[in-house]
Amino acid sequence: MATRIPLMAGNWKMNLDHLQATHLVQKLDWSLRDAKHDFAAVEVVVVPPFTDLRSVQTLVQGDRLELGYGAQDLSQHDSGAYTGEISGAFLAKLGCSYVVVGHSERRELHGETDEVVAAKVAAALRHDLVPIICVGEPLEVRQAGEHVPHVLAQLDAALAGLDAATAQGLVIAYEPVWAIGTGEVATPADAQEVCAAIRTRVAELTTGDTADAVRILYGGSVKPGNVASIMSETDVDGALVGGASINVEDFASICRYQQ
Ligand code: PEP
Repeated sequence: MATRIPLMAGNWKMNLDHLQATHLVQKLDWSLRDAKHDFAAVEVVVVPPFTDLRSVQTLVQGDRLELGYGAQDLSQHDSGAYTGEISGAFLAKLGCSYVVVGHSERRELHGETDEVVAAKVAAALRHDLVPIICVGEPLEVRQAGEHVPHVLAQLDAALAGLDAATAQGLVIAYEPVWAIGTGEVATPADAQEVCAAIRTRVAELTTGDTADAVRILYGGSVKPGNVASIMSETDVDGALVGGASINVEDFASICRYQQ
């Protein structure tokens, strides 16, 4: 059985310019070091806006911080006439380890289809970035009791054509749309139901060993007060945190949920 290191990833969304980013990363690092956080036991990653990444890179690499960082999106293309897009190659050059793909805000507000999400997963992998693949159902789908098939269909599309070895390094985030930024969190049992279904489907699509190694995060109104109960579920390996990740005390406390 693989040991899955818990991952806490903070998606800042369109918040904090590069000066504020520097400030937050320094404070977060101090706060976690002060608390003697074991970064090897619970991985901590920040996901700032594109324009902050160079500053975050300078800080993390220059001061040898143990925090990881990544981007919130990438283009499915590697270069060319795609005005406004950011290539995975650029993110890799900035030292990013991760990239969020298929966040519900991208799917809803920018019309990203399952096919585009799959192309972005492939683009991330071409540049050795770990995609954090977001899946999750809207409220009406949950109310109709169709949340598991909905999420599995998104997953099937995102993982289409990936071999078992490549899929091992993936991170999948189950983010019910009705819980994102609403303050309404899924119950630990709700999170476990879908995360377990995701792991089973990864096993069907690849191998049992791969499914065992893949980290599955929960995202949607994670806060210091609810993280421990969600993390106690067998198939939840971490959290993708939005609002609470731009508050240093809250995010540090989420990262230290075991204390
Ligand atoms: C998110 O943006 O991925 C998210 C989970 O947001 P929040 O924690 O604010 O619900």
